[in-house]
Amino acid sequence: MRIDKDKCAGCGQCIEFCTLGNISSRRRNPKNSKLYYEIDEDDCVDCGVCLRAAVCSADALFMPNYEWPRTIRSAFSDPTVEHRETKVAGRGTEEIKTNEITGRIKRGFVGISCEMGRPSVGARFSDIEKVATALASLGVEFESNNPCTRLMADPKTGIFKDEVKNETVLSAIIEMLVPLEKMAEVLETIRGIASQVDCVFSVDLITVLDEDNSIPTLPILRSLNWPVLPNGKMNTGLGRPLAKEV
Ligand code: SF4
Ligand code: SF4
Repeated sequence: MRIDKDKCAGCGQCIEFCTLGNISSRRRNPKNSKLYYEIDEDDCVDCGVCLRAAVCSADALFMPNYEWPRTIRSAFSDPTVEHRETKVAGRGTEEIKTNEITGRIKRGFVGISCEMGRPSVGARFSDIEKVATALASLGVEFESNNPCTRLMADPKTGIFKDEVKNETVLSAIIEMLVPLEKMAEVLETIRGIASQVDCVFSVDLITVLDEDNSIPTLPILRSLNWPVLPNGKMNTGLGRPLAKEV
């Protein structure tokens, strides 16, 4: 996103709508106090929130005609923009919320996602790669129908294409399928790499209840001293399963 300096009236109305606090004022001239506003384009994730807020009466905010790989910023950060390159919508797959329909995660497995970045922080692919490569070294299988995986040069190593590594997005999800017996090792690896990335991220676990309605991941989490909170999103199984074992 960019602000046309010549059109900007210096009202400051757009500042509070920036998801990353990325708009700041500049003096037009060292000798007077007239201001214009500028977007730090290197850190801007092209989420479009400032533009959609429609507060700029000077029509100074605009989205330049960016080219690949810059275009992945808006694809991951603006829900109104499609993923032209990866052909997978959103910032990850909807798998987390639809397993009762797809049945991809079966008993004995756990789906693990790392939701990299968040509003006010964002995430660069160089940081996303640090987590992905650490997990790839354990032999995890990244979800192929996921826009992050599609940007990897090699999903077996978790290394991303060179041209996307410096791109930054509001949020992107790495997603993988892991046998339950490998879950502890994966979580401890995630815990170990967390201090080495310059962004926040959260970890999601998706599992199927056992026959007796117990949650197979709970004892593993407790043995690792991972906090387990009672609040969370829960699917109530309103979808129609495609697979037998869901
Ligand atoms: S596009 Fe998003 S990140 Fe960029 S300046 Fe606007 S609100 Fe901020
Ligand atoms: S709302 Fe428009 S005129 Fe006001 S500071 Fe932002 S870009 Fe400039």
